[in-house]
Amino acid sequence: MTDLVPGTVTEGLVIRTEAGFHRIQTPDGVVVARAPKKLLRGERETTTAVVIGDRVRVRVVEDGTGVVEEILPRENELVRGAAGGSRYLDVIAANLDLLVAVHSLREPGFNPARLDRFLVMAEIAEIRAAVVLNKIDLARDLDVERVAAPYRQAGYDVILTSAKTGEGIATLRDALTGRLSAVVGPSGVGKSTLLNEVQPGLHLRTGEISEATGKGRHTTTTAELHPLQGGGYVADTPGLRELAIREVEYEDPAYLFPEFRPFLGGCRFANCTHREEVDCAIRAAVDEGTLSPDRYRSFRRIYDEIEEQESY
Ligand code: GDP
Ligand code: ZN
Repeated sequence: MTDLVPGTVTEGLVIRTEAGFHRIQTPDGVVVARAPKKLLRGERETTTAVVIGDRVRVRVVEDGTGVVEEILPRENELVRGAAGGSRYLDVIAANLDLLVAVHSLREPGFNPARLDRFLVMAEIAEIRAAVVLNKIDLARDLDVERVAAPYRQAGYDVILTSAKTGEGIATLRDALTGRLSAVVGPSGVGKSTLLNEVQPGLHLRTGEISEATGKGRHTTTTAELHPLQGGGYVADTPGLRELAIREVEYEDPAYLFPEFRPFLGGCRFANCTHREEVDCAIRAAVDEGTLSPDRYRSFRRIYDEIEEQESY
């Protein structure tokens, strides 16, 4: 499988993790490696040491397998709060260039709160995000541009797709090419079907409702970065139904909504929370129709959630 000589140490990209085995793409081929427990002992407590997207130094041992010696510093990480109030952090992927947040326009119907949650996660992780609105074939009667408008206003690329008719697939493929991406979004919106269209031969399982079992941290999940023909990798994220909102380092969560940023500082009170205060620039912009009421509702929800967390 590899030309790697026992004893050599090389750098590579973690493209698959399953039950403690990591597939690592190196310039000389793929190595399957284990990671010693000591790598887990950082200042933070995480469920796994090595995740897809990690760049690692790996030593090839006698039988041709590898041992991860070092995880190189991460540019970013996609984190889910581990289940059951656990103090462990569940890092899903590292070093992503793009988070593709998918929602369908119908079946299931468009739900801004659910989409915004994933976008906020991207903002928290400081990963660039794009929005895919899928199943456009089922939404001919909808004003789709109206749905897309708040996201375009926020600065996200919005791609309208139908995995059924092929609309928008080339655009999505272009967005993924040459990048390390992850596709996220609620179950059933068409994530796997879209990726199968982007790259025929990927054969991701679709139409499954088994994601219900994908919540706990003890669930055996395989995480994989699929290589793309034009270059780059994309991760499907089965079992990743909802990302926890945590580790918010901004003083003002309104910052997590990029289109709100120009209004920050315009409120009467410097510590305005943009909720009940008088002369709030953000609320005024919503009332005037400059900012989307749906996005504002998402902001309120997420603000409440962050506050709840901080009070623990
Ligand atoms: P996932 O859970 O987000 O990965 O969703 P799946 O890819 O499993 O798709 C869920 C269901 O939606 C499947 O039955 C797909 O065939 C269907 N589907 C996916 N994309 C489209 C689309 O663009 N149009 C239509 N009409 N159905 C779609
Ligand atoms: Zn305000």
